[in-house]
Amino acid sequence: MSEKSLSSQLEEYLPRGMLKLVRDAGEKASELGLELYVVGGVVRDLLLGRANFDLDLVVEGDAVKLAQELAKESQARLTVHPHFGTAKLSYTSFSLDIATARRESYSHPGALPSIKSGSLTDDLCRRDFSINAMALCLAPQRFGELIDLYHGKDDLDNRLIRILHPNSFIDDATRILRGLRYEQRLGFKLEPKTDELLRRDAAMLDTISGDRLRHELELILKEDKPERVLKRAAELGVLTKLHPSLRGNGWLSNRFSHARQACKRTSPSPLYLCLLIYNLSEEENEQFLSRFNFQKRLAQAMRHTLQLKTKLHTLANPQLKPSDIYQLLRSYTTQAIQANVLAAESPVVSQHLQSYLARLRYVKPLLNGEDLKRMGVPQGTQMGAILDALHRAKLNGEVKTREEEERLVHILCYTL
Ligand code: ATP
Repeated sequence: MSEKSLSSQLEEYLPRGMLKLVRDAGEKASELGLELYVVGGVVRDLLLGRANFDLDLVVEGDAVKLAQELAKESQARLTVHPHFGTAKLSYTSFSLDIATARRESYSHPGALPSIKSGSLTDDLCRRDFSINAMALCLAPQRFGELIDLYHGKDDLDNRLIRILHPNSFIDDATRILRGLRYEQRLGFKLEPKTDELLRRDAAMLDTISGDRLRHELELILKEDKPERVLKRAAELGVLTKLHPSLRGNGWLSNRFSHARQACKRTSPSPLYLCLLIYNLSEEENEQFLSRFNFQKRLAQAMRHTLQLKTKLHTLANPQLKPSDIYQLLRSYTTQAIQANVLAAESPVVSQHLQSYLARLRYVKPLLNGEDLKRMGVPQGTQMGAILDALHRAKLNGEVKTREEEERLVHILCYTL
């Protein structure tokens, strides 16, 4: 075990309240005769000087019992999962996840592992990469001591992503996607043997369930530059394992960066997905949707994207009236329209799509059905037709004021 201590980094990077909690938790564990550790991403990021407050703690012993003891002495809300040996303590501004150290084995590739309680060593050797397999001891006498069984610190220094054993990607092929995500996020490289095994085992992604694959894809799309991960996945023959027709090329990179700019206040992930499938056929998209088991709303946005793509030639006509544009686009989801704005080659098409998003979809006449009733228009098909005609006139700027709308209604009563 390494003698290196990271206590000064813990003190520097963790918010004061969190640091106190972590110290108290280490002390309480010691009182109970248990060893408590910080594990995983926080240790990696602490060594890299990157902020990360998602604290995962592992205890050699009963995590639920330790969490219950800690909860007694604080205002924390306690959630326990005795079956999994995990507990969560939620404080006002952050939370601590505590898990019983565990040993895993895989009945077959891609299966969820079967789990038994184990030692810290067992817990570290089930992890994905050396840089994620380090721990810091929280026992008062050893506070901040780095436990680095797989030389994760050397790999951090040398900017390498390294699996822990040659069967790692076979046991759990989600690690293929995780590895590319860390590689691109941190600007690291796959260590040569890991690179070779990743290419060899890319087909093992077939063993992963749709839900788990989707979760990993969603994590990729949450990265600052997901296009880099997808490009790398394409280079390594991984992207085509998600669907043979997916491409992680320059076109996609360019559209993703525009999508980010277009989504300042919302998550760009749904838009990224609509762009990712943009060059698939509708049939290929259906295969992709069912493989990843996307939820209904997202699936609809992706389907609409491709349906609208087939209508773009109609939108290329510069003579279209605003009411024609409205009519063409009214039934499509916003994300499908946004995706087509970003993907369309024709400036006229983009302009029409954008004018719908920015203005036309919000245009409503001042008069409604109630007003028409008061004006003596009988309810029924005629009223529907008048309201539609009024809406079209409003979209086309033919009526502006309430008086102009009323005048039009009177005329329409005689003509419709
Ligand atoms: P991020 O910064 O992306 O959240 P993280 O390291 O905190 O990174 P999590 O997905 O929260 O990642 O997982 C926590 C830890 O659990 C990882 O650091 C890794 O040690 C381990 N882990 C997660 N997924 C796997 C996996 N599929 N196989 C092995 N170990 C895993």
